[in-house]
This record gives sequence, structure tokens and C-alpha cells, in this order.
Amino acid sequence: MTDANSTTTTTTPAFRLDTRWLDLRFRNVTLTAREWLAPDYVRVRLSGPELEGFDSPGADDHMRLFFPGGPVASVEELRASPSREYTPLAWGADWLDVEFAVHGDEGVAAPWAAKADLGSRIGVGGPRGSMILTGSPDGWFLAGDETAIPAIKRFAASAPADASVRVVVEVRSASGEVEFDAPIDVEWLHRGDAPSGTALIAFLEGLGVEDRPGDAPFVFIAAEQGVVKPGRALLKRWGVDTGHAVVKGYWKRGEAEYHAPH
Ligand SMILES: Cc1cc2nc3c(=O)[nH]c(=O)nc-3n(C[C@H](O)[C@H](O)[C@H](O)COP(=O)(O)OP(=O)(O)OC[C@H]3O[C@@H](n4cnc5c(N)ncnc54)[C@H](O)[C@@H]3O)c2cc1C
Repeated sequence: MTDANSTTTTTTPAFRLDTRWLDLRFRNVTLTAREWLAPDYVRVRLSGPELEGFDSPGADDHMRLFFPGGPVASVEELRASPSREYTPLAWGADWLDVEFAVHGDEGVAAPWAAKADLGSRIGVGGPRGSMILTGSPDGWFLAGDETAIPAIKRFAASAPADASVRVVVEVRSASGEVEFDAPIDVEWLHRGDAPSGTALIAFLEGLGVEDRPGDAPFVFIAAEQGVVKPGRALLKRWGVDTGHAVVKGYWKRGEAEYHAPH
């Protein structure tokens, strides 16, 4: 129940978030397929027998992809190479699909995803820990930029069919809107030539308590680091406890190899 004079709620959420730790494993994989879903968004398939047993129980799990730039003789050598964090989208016994926002020629991961030859070899470390959502949120609010699309796709697919799910994604323009497999209406925000996050932050700042999906929703917001402050302010307005939400910077403008605080 919400007190009309404040933004706090006294409803006890009907779900909880727990961390499950997994055995940390490092695997060598090969780039076997590439599919452009938008001019700046690509899905790649990583394949190989070392993927046997790969698992990712949490929708916003991340693994570390290692880009050695040549053959490696040991796990230590693999782990010494440049690495970046990505969300496992889908996987099978010997394959793993990952989607990359291609943000230009800067960096290691995005240029590799865009241009590496099929047959290139990289490493996969983790996931090491998963956030498991148990129970049924009153509603789901999932928002982010291109880098959060894989996690949002996974959360949306994991929500019950009759759940109220609101998905908001910022991309540069209509050409950046990608298909979601789940039957979900996506509210696309276009930032145009403005800095990444501009449209999403303005959208979040415009939401009031009347926009809260249900009394005690699950909230996931991930994008450029600047989204964290307005994202947390929204949680406060909605009376959502930080322990029932994820608000995260997935990358930081001007900073290579950004490490999001966990
Ligand atoms: C938990 C987690 C899960 C993630 N999952 C995914 C995922 O599934 N798919 C995905 O695409 N990304 C994902 N990311 C974001 C990804 O890790 C970063 O975008 C990463 O910095 C890209 O590495 P890079 O080598 O291409 O660029 P870097 O070498 O890290 O950075 C080079 C330059 O590019 C800028 N930059 C980095 N990313 C972007 C961007 N998206 N747009 C514009 N400029 C950028 C940096 O600020 C820097 O100036 C995730 C991040 C986290 C923390």
C-alpha cells in the first residue's frame, strides 16, 4: 500500500533476489557465425567443446570475454589478455550466442565482434555469480541502452506470460531498433546525435509514482554510467528498495575497460 503523502510503499515484494555462486571456468571458443541485427548491433556465435556444462542461471549474468589476439598456451596466458564483460544471451552444449553494441572503432570487444574473421579464437570466463529472482514481482520495469538489450531480453523472456512488463530501450535512431523474440512491446527512445543516455535519463526523470508498474515491482536499469543517479532517484520515488532492483553502469563514457561495481 502506498502512502498518498510520500513515495514510499509498505507492500512487501512477492519476490527476492539472491546471489548464487558458480564454479569459475575458463573456456576457449571459436567465432563461428555473425548476424547483424541492426547497423550497429551484432550477434555472434561462439562455439567449441569446452562450452559443455556452460550455464548462466541469472538474466543479468555477465561473463568475461578474453581477446588474446593469437594462440594461447595456458589459462594464465588467456587471463592476461584484454577482457570485457558481456551477457550470455543463449547457449547449448557447444555454442554460446552473445550480442554486441558496436560503438565505433575504439576498444577491443566491439571491433572484434564487428570484424574478426570467422575461426578467430577468444576465451570465456565465468559467469562466476548469478542473481536469481525467485517469486512473482507485481510488475517488471526493464530499461537500458543497447548494451543492456541482452539482459533485458532474458528478463522479459523469464517473466510469466501474464505479467505486466514495461521495456524501455534507448538507441540512436529507428534503425537501431532490434527484434525481441518474446512478445513484448518495447518503448524505443531515440537519442539522435545527443550523448548516449540523454533520452533515457530524461525519460526516467519524467516518471512519477503513478507510473510505477504495480506496488512492488522488479526494476532493472543498465546503461552508460550516468544513468545510475537518475535510476536510483527513480527507485526512491517509487519506494523500491535497492535490494529488489538492479541499477548499473554497464560502461563509462571516455573510459576503456570500465569495471562496474558489483
Ligand atoms: C554486467 C555487464 C554486462 C554487459 N553486457 C553487454 C552485452 O551483452 N553487450 C554489449 O554490447 N555490452 C555489454 N556490456 C558493456 C560492455 O562491457 C562495454 O561496452 C565495454 O566497454 C565494451 O568494450 P570495448 O572493448 O568495445 O570498448 P572499451 O575498450 O571498453 O572502451 C573504448 C571506448 O569506447 C567507449 N564505449 C564503450 N562501450 C560503449 C558503448 N556501448 N557505446 C559507446 N561508447 C562505448 C568507452 O567509453 C571508451 O571511450 C556489459 C557490461 C557489464 C558491466
